[in-house]
Parts: sequence; C-alpha cells; structure tokens
Amino acid sequence: MSDQNKQSAKIEPLRKAHPCPECGTPSQREHYPFCSNRCRELDLSRWLTGSYAIPVADDEAKAEYPDED
Ligand SMILES: [Zn+2]
Repeated sequence: MSDQNKQSAKIEPLRKAHPCPECGTPSQREHYPFCSNRCRELDLSRWLTGSYAIPVADDEAKAEYPDED
C-alpha cells in the first residue's frame, strides 16, 4: 500500500462519520455528532425538557427564566 492517493479530490474525515442520533444521517464535522444544527437543538431540547414543547433556542441570553415557581 502506498500513499499516492493523497491527491484525491475527495476530502475524507479523519474519523468515521457517526450516524446522527436524531435521524441516522452521517454526522457533519461542524455539527458533530449530529448531521445538522437542527438535529442538535432538537436533541438538546429533548434532553433538557423531556417531552416538553421545543423551546426557541435563538436567544442564549434568555437561558434562564427569572420568574420560575
Ligand atoms: Zn440528523
């Protein structure tokens, strides 16, 4: 085996792509281990709130609610 295939135009990740925990699509490096930011937020939301309604994860400043009972 030689390394002469290095000039291949195909960019391969160093590690195997894991299937997205949400939908099973091969994960993207920028969203690892998910396939997309959507799936990441989906999983995060479900992890944090269980079966609670999916919150709008747009404003990180509003991470905490001041008036919780
Ligand atoms: Zn996914």
